[in-house]
Amino acid sequence: MKDHATRPRHPRTEAVHAGTRRSQYGEVSEALFLTQGFVYESAEAAEARFLGAGREEFIYARYGNPTVAMFEDRIAAIEGTEDAFATASGMAAVNGALMGMLRAGDHVVAGRALFGSCLYILEDVLPRFGVEVTLIDGTDLGAWRDAIRPDTKAAFFESVSNPALELVDIAGVAKLAHAVGATVIVDNVFATPAFSRAVEQGADVVVYSTTKHVDGQGRCLGGVVCGTTEFVRKVAEPYLKHTGGAMSPFNAWVMLKGLETMDLRVRAQAETCLRLARALEGHPKLARVIHPHLDSHPQADLARAQMTGGGTVLALDLAGGKEAAFRFLNALEIVLISNNLGDAKSIATHPATTTHQRLPDAQKAMLGITPGLVRLSVGLEDGDDLLADLSAALDAA
Ligand SMILES: *Cc1c(COP(=O)(O)O)cnc(C)c1O
Repeated sequence: MKDHATRPRHPRTEAVHAGTRRSQYGEVSEALFLTQGFVYESAEAAEARFLGAGREEFIYARYGNPTVAMFEDRIAAIEGTEDAFATASGMAAVNGALMGMLRAGDHVVAGRALFGSCLYILEDVLPRFGVEVTLIDGTDLGAWRDAIRPDTKAAFFESVSNPALELVDIAGVAKLAHAVGATVIVDNVFATPAFSRAVEQGADVVVYSTTKHVDGQGRCLGGVVCGTTEFVRKVAEPYLKHTGGAMSPFNAWVMLKGLETMDLRVRAQAETCLRLARALEGHPKLARVIHPHLDSHPQADLARAQMTGGGTVLALDLAGGKEAAFRFLNALEIVLISNNLGDAKSIATHPATTTHQRLPDAQKAMLGITPGLVRLSVGLEDGDDLLADLSAALDAA
């Protein structure tokens, strides 16, 4: 039994209700169907199901599961896409969106400021299968114009890059890509589903690591590919369901419950994040504070136009380099040293020695990963406490 809507609903309402499938018991909270398989009433019923299963009929959890389907319908409703396919991790979503649609001889243009594993897919995996990849400075629309060719099949980028928080102009890239019929695939993690309307701005496919803000409490890995029913069911799903990329029902249940509170959490975290960025900007120990909605951000106008909030991550560049950054990290009492983001717990990361350690120094420099850079994912703690923690740690740096 599904909920029926006769009037349009805002994303916050969809986040609580969309996609709910109720069993014969009429439970209020979403059921966890922790089952790999499904029973058929007869051999004929099994044959019919395999011939063509509808959205409410299931065969095997790698292909689909009622709890996973609830999560897919709910996030698609929030994101404003026709459909979504839930994946085992954010990387399964990125890989599934790209490998599902590309073949040998195709050309892809990608913004080069990418999450390390995304860079691995574009630099190592795709070229091994004969896909030509051109990596460019994604912040430069002229570079997109120069790189996109008549035979370009996809444009791929992070709308806000990790960790230097640079933006790519979604509408600008979409216009150039669509002129040659290329598909625009956006990794939208840092923008968050709460602050971005990437599809309205021209994205064809939006991928998330739901490990981040959707879970938001550091428990499960997950991801999702959002797009048209055509792309999701005919392009991404066949590749993902046959190569093992599906989300587990348990993780889907955690993510479903995460979606109910995501908007509230992300807004509270983003409010504290911007407050901290403003309070710390100009601190004598800091060469730079980076936050998309600070006036000092080189793309502040684009950031305000493209995102209704500045996100939950800021970056601090300590003037004293690696030694100062390490003293700062080691002096933190509340903020944890770790490498996730979007969590209820505030987390500090030193990209140069952890997440981006394997990059050559020249590439680090190109991506703005200086020895003093610390990425700060702001959680749900009290803002005064966080400011006191960061201020004391800066004194120690
Ligand atoms: C975390 C992250 C990923 C990968 O997600 P996993 O869930 O760890 O596989 C991809 N892109 C971005 C921007 C991320 O932050």
